[in-house]
Amino acid sequence: MTAPGSTPSSSNNATQLDAVIVGAGFAGLYMLHKLREQGLTAKIFEAGSGPGGTWFWNRYPGARVDIESMQYSYQFSEELQQEWQWSERYAPQAELLDYINHVVERFDLAKDIQFNTRLESAIFDEGSKRWQATTSNGEHISARYCIMATGCLSAANTPNIAGIDSFTGPVYHTGEWPHEAVDFSGKRVGIIGTGSSAIQAIPIIAEQAEHLTVFQRTPNFSVPAHNKALDPDYVTDIKQNYASLRERGKQGFTGFDTQSNEKAATEMSPEEIKAELNKRWEMGGLNFYGGFADFMINKETNDLIADFVREKIAQKVKNPKTAALLSPKTVFACKRLCADTGYFETYNRDNVTLVDIATTPIDSITETGLRMGQGDQAQQHDFDVLVFATGFDAMTGSLNKIDIRGIGGQSLKEKWSAGPRTYLGLCSAGFPNLFTISGPGSPSVFTNMVTSIEQHVEYIGDIITYMDNNHFTTISANNDAEDQWVNHVNEVANATLLNSCSSWYLGANIPGKERVFMPYIGGFPPYVEKCNEVAAKGYEGFTLS
Ligand code: NAP
Repeated sequence: MTAPGSTPSSSNNATQLDAVIVGAGFAGLYMLHKLREQGLTAKIFEAGSGPGGTWFWNRYPGARVDIESMQYSYQFSEELQQEWQWSERYAPQAELLDYINHVVERFDLAKDIQFNTRLESAIFDEGSKRWQATTSNGEHISARYCIMATGCLSAANTPNIAGIDSFTGPVYHTGEWPHEAVDFSGKRVGIIGTGSSAIQAIPIIAEQAEHLTVFQRTPNFSVPAHNKALDPDYVTDIKQNYASLRERGKQGFTGFDTQSNEKAATEMSPEEIKAELNKRWEMGGLNFYGGFADFMINKETNDLIADFVREKIAQKVKNPKTAALLSPKTVFACKRLCADTGYFETYNRDNVTLVDIATTPIDSITETGLRMGQGDQAQQHDFDVLVFATGFDAMTGSLNKIDIRGIGGQSLKEKWSAGPRTYLGLCSAGFPNLFTISGPGSPSVFTNMVTSIEQHVEYIGDIITYMDNNHFTTISANNDAEDQWVNHVNEVANATLLNSCSSWYLGANIPGKERVFMPYIGGFPPYVEKCNEVAAKGYEGFTLS
């Protein structure tokens, strides 16, 4: 083991570290900072050429966060949250990247980040009780801890459509957008997908392009973001009372303050329900989640919200057929709720066409566009540029790209082939000293990711301190604790309405992927309470040796 505080060294051609961290997004950066504060040697390996994770890769037009920036930001440093100035209620991607670069500089993180380097394998050596990792540059690293900060939505999904390579024009994926500006002026653009990314990109692309054709398989619920420049008085007020906002955030189900109404719709009069719906619509964004305590478990309440949003869509979209096509039929928030700026109104433009690929599926990509249907029913749609807004192999996709092997050479990918198995979303039995920040089985994507990340980073930091203080070399999740946690994660999900559609929460967007509800939907506060209980009992459910 490298003594805490020692500098990374190379022996037997392997760089010796206390911890290898994969990914330089919000999670990896804070983990690096935390471990360095604790006197450990740690290094981040990052496939991209810069930090930022999600905000490094998702540079598509209109990309911006949909949780308010005053909350979607680190809270571990009072100085940082006081000094940083957000310009808009929901920061655009470029500003988020500026913030992340500021964090890197402020905490002098760059010297321990290796960019343009993918971790290819991480194998647990049972003799030395260390992780032996290799990178895409052929380096070898030996580390006591291996920490996956690989993100929940980072493995872009490009569907396997026949003829996909035959299109002769430029092809882009929202999740792997080029760094240089893409100019759609005078171009006919085709976009496949209508999830959060597309819903942000479509209004902007439509303004530039000669014509935009949107290929929609499933319509999504979207509420207005009501983005705006931040009022300096509002910012001053929050900064004077930041601790109380952060505390309210942590007490909230989603890990951010939605000014939630604690009542179920069943406890409210029709007038109160109507007022709450209107209030939430005016508040905008994901505050919509805070309207009714029972919307995820009570179909009648959920229908009330769904009908309300469908009515709004019908009011916004002039062509009734297009409005009907844009109206989601699923349970409200079964797929992740989207927040938009002028999305539905975009379909009133003359240069935008919505095409239903649910009824007539895409048959193939052609040299000049795409073909839908077959035989006499076939339709060809031509365009100059093709955009895939087709999402991600969520939660497990980026972990599965790394050859991770634990005790007995067991592969994590194989262990998780019937769905991910973790204890608290942090560790998987048989993989000692391997941590997944916001891993499957943790609240992650149902929360303010930054808040969840901070909780995990601090928890992992505490585990390592505990191990060092008590002279433990390894920590490993117990099989029975893991089984109980996986069952609990499933039970909680089964009690909601969220199992009823083909969402990426279930892996249902990836053909062949096991349909298992991956994130923990029990809420941020109960999850934190469970983690704290586990710690208070000497890390109950883990074996320390
Ligand atoms: P997504 O929500 O998974 O949407 C992907 C879209 O592509 C869906 O409309 C999907 O249709 C369609 N699609 C996928 N495969 C297809 C195929 N083979 N043929 C036709 N259509 C296909 O992905 P996303 O929009 O990138 O968003 C993913 C998540 O990232 C969001 O849910 C959110 O959590 C996060 N995100 C957040 C923000 C933000 O903070 N503002 C912005 C963007 C993304 P089906 O629904 O029919 O599968």
